Amino acid sequence: MEALTVIFIGPQGSGKGTQIDKVRSIISQLDNERKLLEIQTGRLFRAMTARADTFAKSKVTNTLSQGILQPDFLTFVLWGQEMLNELDPSSHLLIDGFPRTVSQAQVLDGAFTFFERSLIQVINLDTPEEIVRERMLGRARADDTPESIENRLRWYREDTLPVLEYYRQKDNVLVHDIDGSSSIESVHEQILTALKLK
Ligand code: AMP
Repeated sequence: MEALTVIFIGPQGSGKGTQIDKVRSIISQLDNERKLLEIQTGRLFRAMTARADTFAKSKVTNTLSQGILQPDFLTFVLWGQEMLNELDPSSHLLIDGFPRTVSQAQVLDGAFTFFERSLIQVINLDTPEEIVRERMLGRARADDTPESIENRLRWYREDTLPVLEYYRQKDNVLVHDIDGSSSIESVHEQILTALKLK
């Protein structure tokens, strides 16, 4: 099995976290010799809010609760550091939470070249807004207020959907469109088929 590089893209509430957990356990079963690195920028931002008091901490805490995108440079620092610490060309790499803008995708291209990752696969969890809005209102995360939900849906539409179009134009990227509105198991099966893991 080749080292996989998989980017999960979908609006918040599309089930990315659940699906990544399931895919991670399948890959570990199929190829337990190889290291698997998973990077989630949302989790890295939430970890920042638990650190010592700094200007950056209070600013990030505040923007997180409003559901506003963090500036690109901060995301580069967070995922760049994880890659520098943990990544080599032979590891599997699962990515959740970035790129969320085309400018992030362009910087990530440079990281893929640096770490010698030639084939990139994108799982697009295509899920209608009414469904993700309902799912987010039903869970109890601190940033799931109605205002924050609308902010996140807006930047997903305006800044993140163009990332999918950016990737569709690239020869070394395969975009797999998955119907994120179906059941957890059915989405999981679609993902396994797309990634040829079954
Ligand atoms: P998530 O856990 O992926 O739903 O992300 C939670 C929050 O972290 C988002 O609402 C953003 O404020 C911030 N965030 C996560 N990833 C990024 C990113 N790639 N670019 C900018 N902000 C991000």
